[in-house]
Amino acid sequence: MPRTGGDGAGGCAAARGVHGRPLHAAALKFFWGPMDCGKSTMALQMNYNHGRQGRRGLVTTRIDRSLGPQVTTRIGLAHSAIEVIDELDLRDLVRDGLADGVRVDYLICDEASFYNLEHIEQMAELVDEYDVDVYAFGLATDFRSCLFPAAQRLFELADEVARIQVEVLCWCGREGLLNARVVDGRVAREGEQVVIGDTVDSADVRYQVLCRRHYRSGDLGPRG
Ligand SMILES: [Zn+2]
Repeated sequence: MPRTGGDGAGGCAAARGVHGRPLHAAALKFFWGPMDCGKSTMALQMNYNHGRQGRRGLVTTRIDRSLGPQVTTRIGLAHSAIEVIDELDLRDLVRDGLADGVRVDYLICDEASFYNLEHIEQMAELVDEYDVDVYAFGLATDFRSCLFPAAQRLFELADEVARIQVEVLCWCGREGLLNARVVDGRVAREGEQVVIGDTVDSADVRYQVLCRRHYRSGDLGPRG
């Protein structure tokens, strides 16, 4: 991820974070897209790239499809991760490191749409006060096509928002945009906002990415 605008630390008047280091213009970035668009893959690739540059980061997730404390991807990559429970304060991850003399340069926050609103505020504080880059990845909308609260907050607060450019296609060939929840072969229109399922056919509750037209009509296609 190239930085633009220099490192912001030039000159004697460079701003300093609470830990005394010059601020380098850390940023909060939100990468969003429907299920299956490769968000977790991109998250792990970004972690790899930054690690190669000697930067130290942490990977967090919530309700990964593997249901374990790791980020897994549909193309087979996996990485250990810190599970973000309600009680977790993301700032503590950085503070605890600093207390031990270990600098955290960035956070990779996968499945960020499932975090709570306090977590998003903590991300912003980490950027502004601790000079830590935060890269959040997640869905924008739920199965009802409404924004997840955490995603909405990320849209509101992020320095940069980017739609992931790997297209997921609806069965009709149009670009898939919406995450339909399929229960008993039908598109669910109401229910809990978060119900764990996968995009594989065998799941009791599964998800299928549809174009808006077929999301609206509830048409799951010839294999639905
Ligand atoms: Zn379609």
